[in-house]
Amino acid sequence: MSTLRPTSTSELAELLQSKPGPLRLRGGGSRLERMPATVAPARFLDLSAFAGIERLDAQDQTCTVGPGLPRAELDAALLAHRLELPCLGGGTIGGLFATDPIGPATVGGASPRTLLLGMTAMLADGTRFQSGARVVKSVAGFDVHKLFVGSRGTLFAGLQLHLRLKPRPRAQAWFRREGLDLPAALECFSMLRSLVVPPAELQLHRTANGCTIAGRIAGRDSFVRATMRAHELREGPPITMHHLDASPGAEVVQGNVPGSRVPALLAMSPANAPFLWHGGGRFELSLEATTTTDKLLRTLPELQVDACIVRGDDSRRGLGTPLDPGQQHLAAGLKHALDPHGIFV
Ligand SMILES: Cc1cc2nc3c(=O)[nH]c(=O)nc-3n(C[C@H](O)[C@H](O)[C@H](O)COP(=O)(O)OP(=O)(O)OC[C@H]3O[C@@H](n4cnc5c(N)ncnc54)[C@H](O)[C@@H]3O)c2cc1C
Repeated sequence: MSTLRPTSTSELAELLQSKPGPLRLRGGGSRLERMPATVAPARFLDLSAFAGIERLDAQDQTCTVGPGLPRAELDAALLAHRLELPCLGGGTIGGLFATDPIGPATVGGASPRTLLLGMTAMLADGTRFQSGARVVKSVAGFDVHKLFVGSRGTLFAGLQLHLRLKPRPRAQAWFRREGLDLPAALECFSMLRSLVVPPAELQLHRTANGCTIAGRIAGRDSFVRATMRAHELREGPPITMHHLDASPGAEVVQGNVPGSRVPALLAMSPANAPFLWHGGGRFELSLEATTTTDKLLRTLPELQVDACIVRGDDSRRGLGTPLDPGQQHLAAGLKHALDPHGIFV
C-alpha cells in the first residue's frame, strides 16, 4: 500500500477534500498487523509529521501534543518535570489513544479515556473541529473527543490531543510472585485489587508453568515499604510484557472481564491456555485452534463478557462476540454521520 504523508493541517485538509478514496490512518504502525484487514484497497495516511509537544503546563499538569509523537519522547520530556502520563501502552500518542490497547493498569486506574481532555481533529471531508478543553475543567457540549478512544482511525483524524498528567510517585517498588496455582493467584490478585490504595499496576499471567502475579506499589517511600512488608511482596523486575505473543497458527482473543467471572471464563477455555489479565479488567487469552476460539466467542455472552480476536489470520481479526443490534445501529449511524463516504477504513 502506498503512503500519503501530509506535513500541515492545510495540506491534510486539501488532501481529504480531493476525495482520495479509502485511507487507513497510521501513527507508528505497530498496530496494523493486529487490525482487521481493510475492506477496500486503501492507502496509508501517515500522521507522523504531527509529532510536536505543543504545550506542557507543569503546574496545571496538562499538555497538548501531536498524534504522531512517540510515547517514549513524551515520557522523556515529562520526566524532567517529575510528571507522567499515567497509563500503559507504547507507539505514538495518536495510535495509543485511538486503540486503548490495555485499558487501566489497575482497578480504578487512569486510562486513555479518562486522560483525554480534549482535541482538535479533522473529519474525512477535511472539516476541522475542536472538542473538550485544554485544561482540567468541564466545558459545555458533547464529549465528542471521547469517541476517539477505541475508534481505531475509523471516525476522524486526531491532530492535537490535550492530555491530563500526574506527578510521578515519590517512590515505587516492583513485586512478583511466581509459581502459583490458579486459585492462589486469583486470591492474591483479588486481595491486592481490594486494598484501599491498590498497586499502581497489577497483572496476572498464566502459562503452562503456573501463574505469576506482578505489579508496582507507588506512593510515599514509607507507604511503599509498609505495603510490601504487610503483604509479603518480594521485589521483582518491572513488568515489560503487556500483551500475549501468539505462537504460529494460534489466535489471541482480547476483552474485559470482571474478577468474579474470571474462574468461569477460564473454565470455558482449554486448561493452561496462556492468559494475561490486567488489574483494570482487560484480558488476553491465546488459543491454539480456531474452532476453540469460535466456541468460546459463542459462549462468552453467557458471562456478559465481550471479546474479539486481535491476533490471528487477516480474515479472523476483528471477529468477536455479537454486538447487540441497538449498538450496531448506533455505530453505523455514527460512522455514516462522521464519514459518510467511508474514507477512513
Ligand atoms: C512493539 C509493540 C508491540 C505491541 N503488541 C501489541 C499486541 O500484541 N497486542 C495489542 O493489542 N497491542 C499491541 N501493541 C499496542 C498497539 O500497537 C497500540 O495500539 C499502539 O499504541 C499503537 O501505536 P502506533 O503508533 O503504532 O499506532 P498505529 O499502529 O499506527 O495505529 C493504531 C490505530 O490508531 C489509529 N490512529 C493512529 N493515529 C491516529 C490519528 N492521529 N487519528 C486517528 N486514528 C489514528 C490507526 O488508524 C490505527 O487504527 C503493541 C505496541 C508496540 C509498540
